[in-house]
Amino acid sequence: MPTYSYTCPRCGDFELLRTIARRTDPAHCPDCDCLGARALSSPHLSRLSPSLDRAATQAGLSSETPQVTRHIPAMAQPTSATTQRPGFPALPRP
Ligand SMILES: [Zn+2]
Repeated sequence: MPTYSYTCPRCGDFELLRTIARRTDPAHCPDCDCLGARALSSPHLSRLSPSLDRAATQAGLSSETPQVTRHIPAMAQPTSATTQRPGFPALPRP
């Protein structure tokens, strides 16, 4: 259900969750119970969660200034080829 903005003549702006069908109906102010008319506002794009906001910012930065690798990263040390479990027989090695 979307959030719509309304303006109370006494208290100012307030927001209300409403169905789309009732979006143009006047709404009662939660503070003084006066009827307030719907106020047009911009979409609530700033209400992204912090993690989504960081992801969107990082995606924008990555598209404009991608990180470039200038050297090959060091390889990880190979793990031991032998098993530590004595129950397994030794496998033939090439
Ligand atoms: Zn009010």
